[in-house]
Amino acid sequence: MHEKTIAQLSASLATGEFSSEELTRALLERVERFNPSLNAFITVTAESALAQARAADERRRQGAAGLLTGIPIAHKDIFCTDGVRTSCGSRILDRFIAPYNATVVERLNAAGAVMLGKTNMDEFAMGSSNETSFYGPVRNPWDLDAVPGGSSGGSAAAVAARLTPGATGTDTGGSIRQPAALCGITGIKPTYGRVSRWGMIAYASSLDQGGPMARTAEDCALLLGAMAGFDLRDSTSVDRPAPDYAALLDQPLTGLKIGLPKEYFGEGLDSAVARVVEDAIAEYRKLGAETVEISLPNSHLAIPAYYVVAPAECSSNLARFDGVRYGHRCENPKDLLDLYTRSRGEGFGAEVQRRILVGTFALSAGYYDAYYLKAQQIRRLISDDFRQAFAQVDVIMGPTSPTVAFNLGEKVDDPITMYLSDIYTIAVNLAGLPGLSLPVGFVGQRPVGLQVIGDYFTEDRLLNVAHRYQQVTDWHQRAPTAFA
Ligand code: GLN
Repeated sequence: MHEKTIAQLSASLATGEFSSEELTRALLERVERFNPSLNAFITVTAESALAQARAADERRRQGAAGLLTGIPIAHKDIFCTDGVRTSCGSRILDRFIAPYNATVVERLNAAGAVMLGKTNMDEFAMGSSNETSFYGPVRNPWDLDAVPGGSSGGSAAAVAARLTPGATGTDTGGSIRQPAALCGITGIKPTYGRVSRWGMIAYASSLDQGGPMARTAEDCALLLGAMAGFDLRDSTSVDRPAPDYAALLDQPLTGLKIGLPKEYFGEGLDSAVARVVEDAIAEYRKLGAETVEISLPNSHLAIPAYYVVAPAECSSNLARFDGVRYGHRCENPKDLLDLYTRSRGEGFGAEVQRRILVGTFALSAGYYDAYYLKAQQIRRLISDDFRQAFAQVDVIMGPTSPTVAFNLGEKVDDPITMYLSDIYTIAVNLAGLPGLSLPVGFVGQRPVGLQVIGDYFTEDRLLNVAHRYQQVTDWHQRAPTAFA
């Protein structure tokens, strides 16, 4: 059963080939068997999963099943889950049991999905390799010496290893797309405002966006269909109905105009990755698309601007973790200041502390104009680059990441090299645009992802563009040998 996609599982559940309870048991057994080597899950919710599965089977008997009824999934541990530990990969929330469900969790529950557990992630979603997690690194199922990418590395590894057919992720600067690329799966970061952020622990509020990760674009369409939509409880949620993504997957690509930004194919891009990406683009030409070279001239400013905006917003968002209301509290504080400083010092890891310091500095009196305001101005220039590009082309394509998965430990001591993993993904968040990554080949054993960027609210188009490619290629069907 584990080899089937969500769409295939949904069909099997509908014909009664197996029940959701049988499917859930089979996947829980795989989690038990493989998680010790992958470390993809922080928490496994076996009992409540089986209860949800039985309820889904019952709903089906009553004739009230939808496409996701009884489908097992996993949630990144950044989404609040009622009665279940929600750690955000941090020691400071190690014992935090959320008292409510995030909207995304609520919506997937309502669609009948079964939660297998919570997946590992970089601490507070800060990272590109899953190595900043308090719970230890996740390993890449394609090569256990390699990182899975981050910050949604647990979700990506769990999907790639066939422990779950789908999972949720969040993407502030690339955290859905980059791990999807490094693990050979499909993931989409929707337009900012498309998916509710309510109950999703905030990292950088003006950039964060939740989205689905699965093996195929079709499965992402099914999950996104359930996740997307207006939410009164998120003031940045956009009141605009979500289309039926699954129904729009088959549109032909004849005449599709693909922009290839020259800045995404230059220095810094691994040449073997470039060849795989160029082959994928050639396949799109065979499908009837046209390609044109475009320029996104401010691309080189994306990482510096992001590393002002994201730390600034995180320093404000993370101020709430103070050892008073919830989360880790130090032993025997001698006064209030000691309580704050020791609780936070013990609770947050090194990368999170680095970003809080950078962000606090950038926002401090006298520096605001020089850093935060300047970064916001650059953000506008980056959005304008995309606006001009989308006046010419329908979608933009390029590599998701400049290299394939790197080895565990390879970049931990060098934050700048680590930050460069997101060189092609970060601008998309700064502009609030949707972006998707799909598997298009390998360098050696390690997968390569193609990034497809669209104009605002064109998730349907991105999924369609990925789906048509997956109809004529089989990269998305390849499984890492040890987990086939
Ligand atoms: N790697 C980037 C960072 O560390 C992006 C993370 C993300 O998208 N959550 O901030």
